[in-house]
Amino acid sequence: SAGWSDDWSSTIPGYIEVRGARENNLKNVSLDIPKKKITVFTGVSGSGKSSLAFGTIAAESQRLFNETYPAFIQSLLPSYGQPDADSIANMSAAIVVDQQQLGGNSRSTVGTATDLHTLLRLLYTRIGEPAVGNAKELSFNDPQGMCPECEGIGHAAEIDLDRLLDRDKSLNEGAIRFPTFEVDTIYWGYFVGSGLFDNDKALRDFTEQEWQDFLHLPSKKVKVKMGGTGTVNVTYEGLLPKFRRLYVTKGADQLQPHLRGPYREVVTTGPCKHCEGSRLNAAARECRIEGTGIADCAAMQLSDLAEFVRTITEPSVGPLVSALLTRLDNLVHIGLGYLTLDRPTTTLSGGESQRLKLVRHLSSSLTDMTYVFDEPGVGLHPQDVQRLNELLIGLRDKGNTVLVVEHRPAVMAIADHLVDMGPAAGQHGGEVVFQGEFAGLRESGTLTGEHLDSSQPVKAEVRKPDGKLSITGADSHNLRDVSVDIPTGVLTAVTGVAGAGKSTLIREHLVAVHPDVVFINQHVTRGSKRSNPATYTGILDPIRKAFATANKVSAALFSANSKGACPDCQGLGLIYTDLAHLEPVVSTCETCQGKRFNADVLKHTLRGRDISEVLRMSVTDALEFFTEPAIAPVLRAMEDVGLGYLTLWQPLSTLSGGERQRLKLALELEKTGQVYVLEEPTTGLHMNDVDKLVGLLDRLVDNGSTVVVIEHNLDVIARADWVVDLGPGAGRDGGQVVFEGPPAKLLKSRKSVTAKYLAQHQK
Ligand code: ADP
Ligand code: ADP
Ligand code: ZN
Ligand code: ZN
Repeated sequence: SAGWSDDWSSTIPGYIEVRGARENNLKNVSLDIPKKKITVFTGVSGSGKSSLAFGTIAAESQRLFNETYPAFIQSLLPSYGQPDADSIANMSAAIVVDQQQLGGNSRSTVGTATDLHTLLRLLYTRIGEPAVGNAKELSFNDPQGMCPECEGIGHAAEIDLDRLLDRDKSLNEGAIRFPTFEVDTIYWGYFVGSGLFDNDKALRDFTEQEWQDFLHLPSKKVKVKMGGTGTVNVTYEGLLPKFRRLYVTKGADQLQPHLRGPYREVVTTGPCKHCEGSRLNAAARECRIEGTGIADCAAMQLSDLAEFVRTITEPSVGPLVSALLTRLDNLVHIGLGYLTLDRPTTTLSGGESQRLKLVRHLSSSLTDMTYVFDEPGVGLHPQDVQRLNELLIGLRDKGNTVLVVEHRPAVMAIADHLVDMGPAAGQHGGEVVFQGEFAGLRESGTLTGEHLDSSQPVKAEVRKPDGKLSITGADSHNLRDVSVDIPTGVLTAVTGVAGAGKSTLIREHLVAVHPDVVFINQHVTRGSKRSNPATYTGILDPIRKAFATANKVSAALFSANSKGACPDCQGLGLIYTDLAHLEPVVSTCETCQGKRFNADVLKHTLRGRDISEVLRMSVTDALEFFTEPAIAPVLRAMEDVGLGYLTLWQPLSTLSGGERQRLKLALELEKTGQVYVLEEPTTGLHMNDVDKLVGLLDRLVDNGSTVVVIEHNLDVIARADWVVDLGPGAGRDGGQVVFEGPPAKLLKSRKSVTAKYLAQHQK
């Protein structure tokens, strides 16, 4: 890529000029993107929208930004690869507002991730009574303000000894009820071999000393007898410190799957009793404004907090109050009024995280930035989309360039400029098939244009349920004693505005309670750097075998962990460089040029292709190449869920949440009689792909499974057999079942907001 233009005078300042972009599937794309306008990128999944908006434009901006560092700092930064393009000119600094979670630890809350927590502490130091010295004394992340008991975490894990132990049994009889401590396990061996206990005595008969040693002894060097083979020196540790160190410090989600259930039986996490979950020490909790403490503020839903702050009329804090209100009002306006400041950011959905970031930028005074959004409409009810649009327009009107990748026509409608990618996915896409005003899209003849007016009518003939899963008296979070039946043998859509309580109802009262439910979510699976569609679906082994058989060599040669793998990237094809304070940087391995294997391995071919070529095929191409019964049906399933454009060896970490969810779905297509729960499965799907998805969900139901989807997409809701609508509003104003019944009947509901939008959609 030569000819990088930085000659500003020769370009029209009103446009970002992209010339000859070839990142991923892009086919030499050249286009002008108007600055200080809203440009929406549309097109079927895999057509190249992200490759253009993120992989080319945002990536180039970030690279240029790095170049502004002094040379010696740059020498420490691995160079961002130049996006594959002839030139990209007239960029402004780009900010990517994506669906990644904000800050990953338990100390990060909605309050700390926005600057609301800081502003609120300033307010309290100025007018709170009794006065505190400084703002640090009100911070749960500072030793001066944190609760000494839970160190500012707000909750504490308690090990329930009655569940962990069977006091009627001896150690030899298996008194410790946890899989890794069962009789004949290594950990069990430490206890019985320690010589500290009478191993045949029931626990309830233990002496004071035995109890103390058994539960609490911090550490002691002991000689342990091991299965008759003599003794080994080990450090003995009491059950509680050991259990805490091994499991509690990690928490259920980080444990191996088979330990999670038993862990949840034994360990309960609840609010810290000392600070009642407020994370603050006594002095910090005492400081009040009009009787309201800072911890009370953090526990209020944001819409209530805004009302409280509005009552503060003390002139000396006028500027602080208005700064707080601007941010709070924006959060309420974008439909996040149901959140609380003390909510850990790790519990937010991708859509909620993205909207929070959006609001953060709205209060920034920077202008002439380029903001790049990844499907900001995710998780939003049609009603909330209007508000999102207003905020995007606000961002533009402050003098910024706004680029949005989006599938929702309601968001497309606010575009000043629209770029439709296509015509199809993967190598059959990568071209600009339409650009111009939204109005012109209808006549453009593209897939996006065609689908604009083809909304689905509500299903008239719905399936009859063959049973039900009952939820009774659900009251977590905002739910108000909800009792509702989820019919089995049909397709059910759970609907309602963001914050109505959909996820709470389904996750906590269906998925967590009914052990047979298969929850297909958008989360990354473990070990995602090494994982890819081929490993994830299990077709890599049969592919290696096919190469081995054809070449009469060992299948291990074709393993990325074998001697045949490139030694520099260990067969990853990519080099990951971890930086202290920045995101890890990924670049193509220079030794193997991303081919992952050494030249000797690449000499072996199958039907004329080497292993590296095969692994770089898209699913669609691989489907033409492989007929092996262990491979072809799996590829077919991936194609069916709309992932034909993925390459076999693309790291799972580069897949979007929606793509991951569909990959999980692909593995389920042939199963029967299951109960599936999916959260917004249309995430990342073009309208054309939504049709296919509904077809698949129907297929699952026709094969005797039950499917429950949390959805905002009106085409999906229209084609469900049954709808459970939650609301009527969000947070405190939600948590009730507003409607349950078939979609045709929903249309007649006067209470449901969803009904109103479904009716409009029917036109
Ligand atoms: P869209 O945003 O329209 O869904 P993408 O730009 O994500 O499409 O993908 C366009 C094509 O590029 C697809 O065929 C996809 O598989 C491929 N692709 C995207 N990211 C990568 C990657 N990191 N490595 C290899 N191929 C990729
Ligand atoms: P929906 O799925 O309809 O968007 P949620 O179930 O996520 O709604 O949220 C319903 C209510 O429960 C909201 O008031 C939300 O703030 C609250 N809530 C959801 N998850 C948590 C959590 N992990 N901790 C505390 N409150 C939560
Ligand atoms: Zn505490
Ligand atoms: Zn390499």
